[in-house]
Amino acid sequence: MMITQAKPFVEKIFGKEARKRKGFSTTIISKAFDKQKHKCLVCKTKFTKFDITKKYYTVHHKVGKTSINTLANCEILCLKCNRKKREKRIGKK
Ligand SMILES: [Zn+2]
Repeated sequence: MMITQAKPFVEKIFGKEARKRKGFSTTIISKAFDKQKHKCLVCKTKFTKFDITKKYYTVHHKVGKTSINTLANCEILCLKCNRKKREKRIGKK
């Protein structure tokens, strides 16, 4: 599998799994991290590189359509906030 646009640091930090998880490209995820200043969008917990490699973050689609993989639709949350979001969603059903 060739990812021609991937930056070297993204490869190092995110690995292959981040790419598989949702539809965002590594370029978008990298830009979203910069945009959020490496903080969780909800609780503002700062992600360190160490945290990122341990996958204490999750990439989330702002609009629930997973086919929209633009930077504007990309949110990065810590696992705690992601879990809260998911619980809310399940609770509604
Ligand atoms: Zn958070």
